Amino acid sequence: MTNSILVYIELNNNQPLNVTKEIISKLHNCNNNMQINGVVITDLQSYELSKNILLNIGLDNLYVINDSIFDSFQTCIYSDALVDFLKQNNPDIFLMGATEKGRELAPRTASALDIGLTADCTDITITADYDLLATRPTYGGKMMATIVSKTKPNFATIRPGAFKISNFPSRETNVVFITPDLSGEKILTNILKCENKIQKDDWTCAEIIVSGGLGLKTKENFELIYKLSELLNAKPAASRGAVEMGWAPESIQVGQTGSSVSPKLYLAFGISGAMQHIVGITNSDRIIAINTDKSAPIMNSADVAIVADAVSVLKQMISTYK
Ligand SMILES: Cc1cc2nc3c(=O)[nH]c(=O)nc-3n(C[C@H](O)[C@H](O)[C@H](O)COP(=O)(O)OP(=O)(O)OC[C@H]3O[C@@H](n4cnc5c(N)ncnc54)[C@H](O)[C@@H]3O)c2cc1C
Repeated sequence: MTNSILVYIELNNNQPLNVTKEIISKLHNCNNNMQINGVVITDLQSYELSKNILLNIGLDNLYVINDSIFDSFQTCIYSDALVDFLKQNNPDIFLMGATEKGRELAPRTASALDIGLTADCTDITITADYDLLATRPTYGGKMMATIVSKTKPNFATIRPGAFKISNFPSRETNVVFITPDLSGEKILTNILKCENKIQKDDWTCAEIIVSGGLGLKTKENFELIYKLSELLNAKPAASRGAVEMGWAPESIQVGQTGSSVSPKLYLAFGISGAMQHIVGITNSDRIIAINTDKSAPIMNSADVAIVADAVSVLKQMISTYK
């Protein structure tokens, strides 16, 4: 039997989410000889619109569980379809993005299959015995724990932004269409209309991120983060400290309880670099930290550590780039 990894492919506007591509990229970089398969739950029209991308992300097999009812997300029927599929196909490892929908779908699926789930992982390794070692922050982010599940498939959700998207190897993807069993009491809700009221900007993929923390001292000073971001065509971000002070909205918090980011450049102004912040920025190509304390933990993670007052450096950069 061929050993395989299954990736749940979440679509949005007929495109696989970045997290799906991040997971598949990571698997290709893991150098194992396992099959990499994907499963997508969708209606056929959306599949047709997304297939050019789905067939070019380096999958060996793509399972398309399709029915017109899947044109809008419903946790119960999506997880029922997944559970039925997983009962018949036995991957060694099953991975899903820890997105809003993934966080609903994964525990329900794991519970129905009576298997373990390692949620919200920031790193993975695959052993020679095809076991998944899933790493995630624990004890309030004070430690990183690597967890091996005793049940199969080893099931984990992966934080968006935890891995970088790389070029996919060209592979002939075999497509298998699956008609789910939707009989009985499975359909409990009829969705009449969906309105997308919140347009989320996927700032986590920004090339440059300018981030501020408590070292900026005041909300007025934090405004300089926005000014510099605008000048550099970058995205602003904040530590939880700055968010808790009300200087920045929660939506731009980086770290364990915020977003993971993977920019080319992460500029950290007045951020100490607590482990809970660092887990969100480790995939940055370069980190420049500006801090008055040369022994602040962020200085160890930084490629360039500038011991200086964050507000002065921000003002100088703003006047230079203007
Ligand atoms: C369960 C849990 C989850 C968490 N999740 C997150 C998360 O997602 N994201 C996150 O960021 N945090 C998170 N935290 C909080 C985290 O532990 C830290 O408390 C937080 O990151 C601190 O924010 P900060 O670096 O802005 O502030 P501080 O730790 O207070 O650091 C301020 C830094 O500014 C420096 N400084 C002071 N004056 C200046 C100056 N004039 N110029 C330059 N530097 C100066 C100081 O030397 C210091 O290093 C979490 C905590 C827990 C328990």
